[in-house]
Amino acid sequence: MKYDVIIAGGGASGMTAAITAAGRGCSVLVLERMEKLGKKILATGNGRCNLTNSFLDQDCYRGEKPGFPYSMLEQFGVPETLDFFQSMGMLTTDLDGYYYPASMQASTVVDTLAGKIKSLDIDVKTEALVEEIKKIKDTFYIKSGKDQYQGRNVILAAGGMAQEKLGSNGSGYGLAKSLGHTVTDLFPALVALESGEPFFKYLAGVRNGSSLSVYVNGQKKVSQEGEVQFTKYGISGIPVFQVSRYAIDALRKKKKVEIILNLMPEQITLKEMMEYFRKVGSYKTAEEFLQGFMNKKLAFTVLNRLKIRPETSVKELGQKELRQIRTMIQKFTVPISGYKGFDMAQVTAGGVSVKEVMEGTLESKIHRGLYFTGEILDVDGTCGGYNLQWAFTSGYIAGNQIKAGNQ
Ligand SMILES: Cc1cc2nc3c(=O)[nH]c(=O)nc-3n(C[C@H](O)[C@H](O)[C@H](O)COP(=O)(O)OP(=O)(O)OC[C@H]3O[C@@H](n4cnc5c(N)ncnc54)[C@H](O)[C@@H]3O)c2cc1C
Repeated sequence: MKYDVIIAGGGASGMTAAITAAGRGCSVLVLERMEKLGKKILATGNGRCNLTNSFLDQDCYRGEKPGFPYSMLEQFGVPETLDFFQSMGMLTTDLDGYYYPASMQASTVVDTLAGKIKSLDIDVKTEALVEEIKKIKDTFYIKSGKDQYQGRNVILAAGGMAQEKLGSNGSGYGLAKSLGHTVTDLFPALVALESGEPFFKYLAGVRNGSSLSVYVNGQKKVSQEGEVQFTKYGISGIPVFQVSRYAIDALRKKKKVEIILNLMPEQITLKEMMEYFRKVGSYKTAEEFLQGFMNKKLAFTVLNRLKIRPETSVKELGQKELRQIRTMIQKFTVPISGYKGFDMAQVTAGGVSVKEVMEGTLESKIHRGLYFTGEILDVDGTCGGYNLQWAFTSGYIAGNQIKAGNQ
């Protein structure tokens, strides 16, 4: 049998493509290397699956051509995605623009997509690693173990290489290269950053609402705000994930990277701190005074970095020391020496060059009938539902190009 389309990878984008193509009357085969479809989705959004986001601007996606996804997001964006899931009986919950399944369980998203696939009689083979794709005349020949399949079209939806245990192991890049495509520099994104500073061992476990900015060779590049998590190796948490790509890109170019944290972005101004100091501070130690408005371990570290003894009486602190303390709180500088690997990253930066793929259809410019969807492409989104949205958008766009052989 020759399928209208064979989809390599049954993740978020592959399943969306399969449903869309089958909905157009096409015969579809999904080949998935894991034992189940959509395993990675189960881990998304801390098991709740943040599937999209109502906010969108030009900074939400990155890559060689950061503008590449936007025209397609106009075709199939947030409202269409919500309708798509609603049409399969899954409602969503909007938490300040961040969308989740109404059940707040990622398994609902997988069950919804897999259930629809079953209802459409789409052929699915699990534990089926696609090892080779060849095109001879108008037919794609796909090898998986001892089996060989034929398709009029192929959608390469094999994901990136973040967290291999969840399925995508980077094998899709090899398949793309074997078909003549270029794969850009690959590195982990949405990942924690490492610092060699000794105080991190002490700070491990502290969480603090902070604003932070990435400085590359002394130049400010990007800022974020949110809860920063201090770990024994450095910093983590959503605001760190959001800026990690800029820091990693610069580190890979051997540039100097620092993150400057404001440990008290809103809570207290210098004026208020001085007033508080004058009013109630006089009988306290410097550490007790700082603990009044920040985490104890952070208070200790701030003083320690300034070489002010924590037990110093606040009466002994002059304007100069107070100013130094204020500066250390507002400009807590962390030299960045490294970053965590693909095993801890949420997405892969880089991928199949979008210069070789048609914007608007996702068809290869090299082979007619070959399409790419999701993370395998050089498109990575920020945290907040943007990567899954891209997976659904691109899956729909590619699936919608496939015509049934009898049409
Ligand atoms: C821990 C974690 C949390 C995340 N949370 C969020 C979130 O809340 N919101 C968000 O938007 N994004 C999130 N992401 C990112 C998001 O999950 C991915 O970007 C998205 O799943 C990519 O979809 P995809 O279809 O391109 O790839 P995947 O969903 O990774 O699917 C690719 C599939 O292809 C299969 N495969 C790979 N190679 C082959 C092969 N050679 N043959 C056969 N099958 C193959 C894999 O097993 C896999 O099932 C998170 C990622 C991680 C790791």
